[in-house]
Formats: sequence, structure tokens, C-alpha cells
Amino acid sequence: MENLKELDKQYIANTYARFPLEIVSGKGSLVYDETGKEYIDLGTGIAVNTFGVADPQWAAAVTAQLGKVQHMSNLYYTEPCVKLAKLLCEKSGMKKIFFGNSGAEANEGIIKAARKYAAEKKGPEYYTIITLKNSFHGRTLTTLAATGQEYFHKLFQPLTPGFAYADANDLEGLKKLAAEVKPAGILIECVQGEGGVMPLDADFIKGIAKLCADEDIIFMVDEVQTGNGRSGQCYAYLCFGVLPDAVSTAKGLGGGLPIGAVMLGEKLKDVFGPSDHGSTFGGNPVACAGGVSIMERIDDALLADVRSKSKYIFDQLSGAEGVESVSGLGLMIGIKTVKPAKEVVAKCMENGVLCLTAKDKVRLLPALNIPQDVLEKAITVLKDACK
Ligand SMILES: *Cc1c(COP(=O)(O)O)cnc(C)c1O
Repeated sequence: MENLKELDKQYIANTYARFPLEIVSGKGSLVYDETGKEYIDLGTGIAVNTFGVADPQWAAAVTAQLGKVQHMSNLYYTEPCVKLAKLLCEKSGMKKIFFGNSGAEANEGIIKAARKYAAEKKGPEYYTIITLKNSFHGRTLTTLAATGQEYFHKLFQPLTPGFAYADANDLEGLKKLAAEVKPAGILIECVQGEGGVMPLDADFIKGIAKLCADEDIIFMVDEVQTGNGRSGQCYAYLCFGVLPDAVSTAKGLGGGLPIGAVMLGEKLKDVFGPSDHGSTFGGNPVACAGGVSIMERIDDALLADVRSKSKYIFDQLSGAEGVESVSGLGLMIGIKTVKPAKEVVAKCMENGVLCLTAKDKVRLLPALNIPQDVLEKAITVLKDACK
């Protein structure tokens, strides 16, 4: 479309600061703009395109399902959602799955599960959810309340009540807060993604798991961004040897189509009864068929490859000219640069590499199967842009 940018400005709500770039097609980790210029994509639509753009296996699974039935509602059984739920349970240690359509919806679901469990088990005054400062859990009024950042709170008051915020990596402070507020649950991201790709300390995560087990507080992990292989394990909590009571995931789960999952562990697997929760599009067969084709391929060999590519990126960038520090886990990496992150990202784009930012960092979320030679080319461009 010729005047796409003007029409976008006229007709699309002004919520996104878009890059000045139109993407028209792609293949794997390469994408193309309207002039045919090629870019290496290190953002994957914010950790969504797990195996890159137009992945043939994923596209075949999705189109095959499209030719059968695209939607039937949750009033009937359909195969893809059951297949995907079984795969997710096998890979996560969780026991039952509720499907929705987004990360925020998945977080709403685990919060509802924790509140119902705590109200029934301990009493209705146990409703507070403790989250961490600098966290990000979504854009609905409840998940904004869960998000521990003032900036997101001030515009949309009043938010859902019943949230309290602890400092990341301060276990004593969190214990003190838990003793004060009668918590239903504690919700964390193992790596705070939007908060600047900040991994939590292993001892802090283990301490929360123990506190929750000891006090019968629901331990919840938001794996919307870290999940589905991105961390170098299928779920990031598996890197820390803990097992949550509830897990939310979305983004990469669908490989490009909207899907979210509420994953319930042993304690919560039967917390919901008929009509306690629901979603019209949840468990959509097309999205789930895509999800099955993604999750089937997240095996030990792929995860080892994710870890080795992660090490390559860390090795290349740590101590490089213009790089102050590198943080993250697996193929979710934040780079504190001497130059402003925006400037580095703009320079990369000029030179054919698409990166993201998170807070004051350059953020990389490449496809889990990015070929090593393509990755090396992209990192060379990025290192040059940091100088
Ligand atoms: C992206 C994200 C969300 C929100 O997901 P949506 O699909 O945009 O609703 C929630 N939590 C984390 C950690 C995220 O990265």
C-alpha cells in the first residue's frame, strides 16, 4: 500500500511507537521489507515466531487444520487442544491446562486459580497476590495491577485491588510482606523481560518456592516470554530446579498464532469446575495444531542448541567495545550499551539486522533455530553498531 504509514496514523489507535519499516514476507530468520531489502530478525515478533517466519512444518500443521475445522467452541471435543495439553504437561511437570489467547489472559487465569484455592482452603481474606517490582504481567486491568511498575498504574485507576509488591532478590523483605498481607499466591518471572532482561537470583527463586511450599501459598511463574524453550530449558523454572503450582505461558507457544495457557500443577489441577472460567477462542484447533508442531520439536537436542547459541552471544558481546554488560538466559538476552539502545537498534536496522529494546537495553529474542552462520552475521553487525 502506497501511503501505508499515513493510513496507519489515521486509522490505527496510537498505542505503538513503530519502527519506520514495513515487513511484507520472510523465511526462517530472514524477513523482507516492501523494497525487497533483507533483514536478519533477532526479535521474532517479541518471542512469538519460535521457529522463524513461515516455518514449513508449522505452516503445514496450521493449514492442514484450517482445511478440517477452524473453530467449534469448547462445547465440543477437538483433538489438537488435547494433544497440546498432553505435550505441555509432559514437558512442564504441570497436570492440567486451560487454554486462552494471550499472556495477559493466561495470567488472569492463574491469578483466579490461586484466589479460588486460597479462599476455599484458608478463607476469603487470603486474596492478595505478591508480585515483584519491575515485573511485567500484561495490559488488562488486573495484570496491570500485577505489574510492579508505577508507570503502568497511574493512567488507569482504579486497578484491581489485592496486589502487593516485593523487591526482586530480597527474600527477607518478601517473607516480611508475606507475613503481613495474607497472600493467596506469589507471582514471578524468572527473567524479568520487559523490565530489562533481568534474571532473578537462583537462591531467591528457590527461597520463594520453599516459602510457598511451607506456607501453602500458590507459587506462580509467568513464562509468557521465557517459556517454550527460550530459556534453554522448556520452561525457565526448570533451570532453577523448582516446580511451581501454576504457570502461565503464551507468546512462543503458538509459533505465530494467538494462544495462551494456564498450566495447573498438582495442588490446583482440580481447582476449576464447570463454568468457573472460560474463553470463546480458547483451545482453538488451528492455534493448537500450530502449538503441537512447535512443542513437539522442543526436545533435548534443540534445547542444547539454544544453550550453545546463547553462550556464543554472551562470549561475543561480553567485554566487546561499547558493551557495558550482557544479561539474560538462553536466547533471551539484554545488552547494556554505552550508546543509547535506540541508537544501536537504529544502526542495526540500517545494516540489515532487527533488534528490540527493553528499558535501557538492546534486547535479542532470535528464533530458536536460527542458523549459526546467520547468527554470526547478525552479531557482527550488532557489535559494529555498539562501537
Ligand atoms: C508479553 C508478556 C505478557 C503479556 O502477554 P500478552 O500476550 O501481550 O497479553 C505477560 N507477561 C510477560 C512476562 C510478558 O513478556
